Amino acid sequence: PTTLPKFRRILLKVSGEALMGSQAYGLDMPTVDRIAADIKGVYDLGIEVCLVIGGGNIFRGLSVAARGMERATADYMGMLATVMNGLALQNSLERMGLQTRVISAIPMTSVAEPYIRRRAIRHMEKGRVVIFAAGTGNPFFTTDTAATLRAAEMGCDAMLKGTQVDGVYSADPKRDPKAVRFDELTYHDVLSLDLKVMDASAIALARENRIPILVFSLSEPVVSVLRGEAKSTIIRERE
Ligand code: UDP
Repeated sequence: PTTLPKFRRILLKVSGEALMGSQAYGLDMPTVDRIAADIKGVYDLGIEVCLVIGGGNIFRGLSVAARGMERATADYMGMLATVMNGLALQNSLERMGLQTRVISAIPMTSVAEPYIRRRAIRHMEKGRVVIFAAGTGNPFFTTDTAATLRAAEMGCDAMLKGTQVDGVYSADPKRDPKAVRFDELTYHDVLSLDLKVMDASAIALARENRIPILVFSLSEPVVSVLRGEAKSTIIRERE
């Protein structure tokens, strides 16, 4: 397997689905606590951490739009869902003794700070875990794109994306027994092979800003992934 570089500041993308545990919808608090403990593990290594939270466990714009709602409206509702998830994760992280800030891309000053780039960086320098909610603040985007955007803005060394499987495969390994797993890929590989790991705009943004993406299984602690003890696929430009 690939040896991973030492990271100083990372962005972890937490999908909405990761927060629902074995439930079909919404938040499973023991699961949220487990993810929070996992994040604390990374923080305790001395790595600055920020998070981008998804909303798919509550509301997914695209699927509601497919049932007749105007796409932009549905997407705004999806972004609001990510704020709820952000607050839930903040609650768990603070109970574990971490200092946190929820920052919303849609101004909502009674519940979250508005997004101001330099302020967010300052929070991290002060040892606070920053939770980015409301995606990019724009409809027609995903939280994966928000994750690469914030990773670029925050000067993160890497973007970590937890999934159901231990990396990127040539096909869905749960359906195709012939699917092969990659240890390392370039952004170009992901786009040209049309590998379903993130949307193309998220990959393109990461490529333009040379942000390595680490894809790993959420069943492994993030700390093990960072130490190279658990498998992952790294997407980056070849040296
Ligand atoms: N969304 C959006 N703009 C963004 C990020 C998210 O409109 O920049 C909306 C979109 O409708 C999406 C929903 O918010 O379906 C929830 O985000 P996503 O599906 O990316 O969450 P995840 O799959 O990570 O749970």
